[in-house]
Amino acid sequence: MTQPSSTHPAPQGEGATTLIEAVKALVKSELAPISSEIDQQGRYPVEFLRRLGELGGFSASIPATQGGEGFGLATQIAITTEVGRECGSTAFLVWCQSSCARYLQQSPNDAVRERYFSDVLSGRLLSGTGMSNAVKHLAGIENIHLKARREQDAYVVSGSLPWVSNVGEDHLAIVAAAVESGGYVMMAVRGDAEGVTLRPCPEFAGLEGTQTLNIRLKDVRIPADSVLAHPEQFSAYLKSIKPGFVLGQVGMGFGVIEGSLRTIRESNVTTAHVNQFLDDQGEDLERAAQALWADTRALAHLVDTGKARVLDVLRLRLAASELTLKTANSAMLHIGAKGYLMRHPAQRRLREAVFVAIVTPALKHLRKEIHALEQAAREEQAA
Ligand SMILES: Cc1cc2nc3c(=O)[nH]c(=O)nc-3n(C[C@H](O)[C@H](O)[C@H](O)COP(=O)(O)OP(=O)(O)OC[C@H]3O[C@@H](n4cnc5c(N)ncnc54)[C@H](O)[C@@H]3O)c2cc1C
Repeated sequence: MTQPSSTHPAPQGEGATTLIEAVKALVKSELAPISSEIDQQGRYPVEFLRRLGELGGFSASIPATQGGEGFGLATQIAITTEVGRECGSTAFLVWCQSSCARYLQQSPNDAVRERYFSDVLSGRLLSGTGMSNAVKHLAGIENIHLKARREQDAYVVSGSLPWVSNVGEDHLAIVAAAVESGGYVMMAVRGDAEGVTLRPCPEFAGLEGTQTLNIRLKDVRIPADSVLAHPEQFSAYLKSIKPGFVLGQVGMGFGVIEGSLRTIRESNVTTAHVNQFLDDQGEDLERAAQALWADTRALAHLVDTGKARVLDVLRLRLAASELTLKTANSAMLHIGAKGYLMRHPAQRRLREAVFVAIVTPALKHLRKEIHALEQAAREEQAA
């Protein structure tokens, strides 16, 4: 079988290639040696995140005129992939941080951007995105957990979010709440703000190094310069950030896929004579990953230019979840008992693959939203 080291096509342009190479080198020297510790001892890779931020690892998709690298979303996804190839958990943190940078960049409110954007972009201020509950609420899956009372352009917020990653006392969290007088508000909350309590979650089966905490807010005052979108701005704003937020996650999947393909290749060196009887062969998975990358690149370009259809983004994110599960599962079946050892990454990747499929939007959530959009399109056609 052919043995390329990567399924993602080289990023376009010299600058993007140089950045990816720098990320690769950083991953090799600073992340690969601690990936087991991250998984098994819950080490939060804060030093790695800071170094990645200094390199521009969270700002690839932000236009150069706004302090970013200006390489587009596909390059940001390629960076997340490079990280995820060694550690899916840290790839999730890269997605959290780069997504928060994008939220701030796209906010219609200058004040919040002035306050937080450049620090989040550079990784000086680490930030979690606690949007799962709001996104699921808007898809008709669960009730909203945060409630806000408006006082002119400020808000007083209470409620709790069960699990938000990449947060801490010296971090930021970007969350959304239902406003008493109607609509929703999206805002940035500091972990050390008065009325905020952070509590540890019960132990997870994976992703333990993501500093995922329970956030409780009790009458927390959110000043106007921490508001990303007021109720009258919320709907248009969410529409503008959602494609990038959802598509950006496929980098976690590609990382796990590439790591799993590596395991398959390594295993075939000695056991191809028996591995050939497995359902999902390396060549087929690799071809599927390359096709998915081509689609991702095209769609990322449409997201960059504001022309992506949300249905296409949801379908691609779903395909990425499915292929990640399939490839991580096949890697385990290829490598066999060796991969069942805690020191082998194959079992960790299987747990990371499951996370790709359960983090919001989860596989079931994607199918629900896709079903609703397809149904609406059919009804519109019939009318
Ligand atoms: C390691 C980890 C990290 C995460 N990081 C983040 C993050 O950074 N930001 C973020 O926003 N989210 C985060 N999440 C949350 C994640 O994105 C999902 O939303 C969450 O896992 C719940 O989704 P679900 O599909 O399992 O819920 P569903 O199965 O869809 O359940 C829907 C909801 O119904 C309710 N419900 C269902 N059954 C019951 C019941 N028996 N009793 C009471 N209530 C019930 C609950 O409110 C539940 O959330 C993280 C989760 C994990 C595991």
